[in-house]
Amino acid sequence: MRYIEPHGHMVSRTTDDYQAMVTAGCAAVCEPAFWAGFDRSSVDGFRDYFRQLTEYEPARAAKFLLPHFCWLCINPKEAEDLSLAADVLAMIPEFLEKPNVLGIGEIGLNRNTRNELKVLEQHVDLAVKHDQLILVHTPHLEDKLKGTRLIVDLLLSHKGVKPGRVIIDHVEEHTINHVLDQGFWAGITLYPDSKSSPPRAVDMLETSAHERIWLNSACDWGVSDPLAVPKAAFEMRRRGHTAEFVDQVLYQNPIRFLSQCAKFRLGEESVG
Ligand SMILES: [Zn+2]
Repeated sequence: MRYIEPHGHMVSRTTDDYQAMVTAGCAAVCEPAFWAGFDRSSVDGFRDYFRQLTEYEPARAAKFLLPHFCWLCINPKEAEDLSLAADVLAMIPEFLEKPNVLGIGEIGLNRNTRNELKVLEQHVDLAVKHDQLILVHTPHLEDKLKGTRLIVDLLLSHKGVKPGRVIIDHVEEHTINHVLDQGFWAGITLYPDSKSSPPRAVDMLETSAHERIWLNSACDWGVSDPLAVPKAAFEMRRRGHTAEFVDQVLYQNPIRFLSQCAKFRLGEESVG
């Protein structure tokens, strides 16, 4: 089989993980900027992180023949500090022309605070101004439904946003259709013991518009599984879905969304 890992935090992973992913059929990995498990103390911490995402990590992935792409932002958790957020937002354009940068993400909300909303809007302005794709993180547990509604409302009220160029990630059963019905793409994040399991993800694929859904593993620094996407393929096949269906959801769907950025290329032409 072949698949794309459209949302994997590879800076947290070992080379064994790269090897396992390529062996399982991974054809490209895309890495959104996120909270590193600790708050960075200054804008220079982000500059180093963006250099890691645009220079070092693509080179490390290339050793395993894997094209590596990334997204840039200050995540909602650290965006609570408005002055740090302003400094990071002002720096992002320096990196937008790098060959592996696909867009702005993962932006969004964490605790649905006023400051988070303000910085989310500033990121959306930045993305529209520079004609970038957008990848959105939605909050967890009890904050998810309210946060998803706030995000969708903010995006729909912005004149420059085209829903087909935005993916809203970490959807669950109670948020997926709200996202898809407004024309956005939806991402389902597979985790061993939170967010969605492979069986729940396949349930959602069977009951929602699967043409605009991608599956990802996140594979961050916490409990997570870099092979969660191919494991979901097994769950699809076990239920009787065809190999063509698996290929469409896990390979063709992410390519269709990501190819809206001309820099997204696989194989010989790829960067990194
Ligand atoms: Zn993430």
